Amino acid sequence: PKLKLMSAEKTLRDVRDLMALQLERSSIDMKLELNSAGQILADAAQIKQVLINLVQNAAESIPQKGTVTLRERKDVTRLNGQSVPVVILEVEDTGNGISAEVQKRLFDPFFTTKDSGTGLGLSIAARIIQKHGGLLEFQTQVNRGTTFGIVLPEANNS
Ligand code: ADP
Ligand code: MG
Repeated sequence: PKLKLMSAEKTLRDVRDLMALQLERSSIDMKLELNSAGQILADAAQIKQVLINLVQNAAESIPQKGTVTLRERKDVTRLNGQSVPVVILEVEDTGNGISAEVQKRLFDPFFTTKDSGTGLGLSIAARIIQKHGGLLEFQTQVNRGTTFGIVLPEANNS
């Protein structure tokens, strides 16, 4: 990957701008929640591709009207007994949620519950994030919604 210093804020603004029209047409509101000035070292095209996939999935999980929230925040995670500062890029939806059955196979290549899905989005997304030294996490509640989080090491901009 072609790594460069990226602002979490700018990344989410760009993704919002790319997806705004499509979501508007589906009666889905898009919100931006910017909480940090976090920076990451990443391949911009790849990270945006992952975010676009997550927004697409989020939109497809909303039966009628709903909201997709793009959020960025800083956190600290523990890794091998060390505290590691991370930046988390989140995509939250007010959609259908993911059943326990589907959760088990979520990241399997070609697994889809959609009539014309490829089932490749999440498996490719997880691989891209892993290659960046991060991880893709999610939280979900059936009939309430889902939040996917891209957790990446915070770049040291010193
Ligand atoms: P596809 O979108 O082509 O089905 P993905 O790998 O992107 O493939 O997603 C796999 C499956 O995970 C989807 O078919 C869907 O059942 C489930 N899924 C992914 N994201 C969400 C979400 N935000 N809400 C509900 N279900 C989801
Ligand atoms: Mg998908």
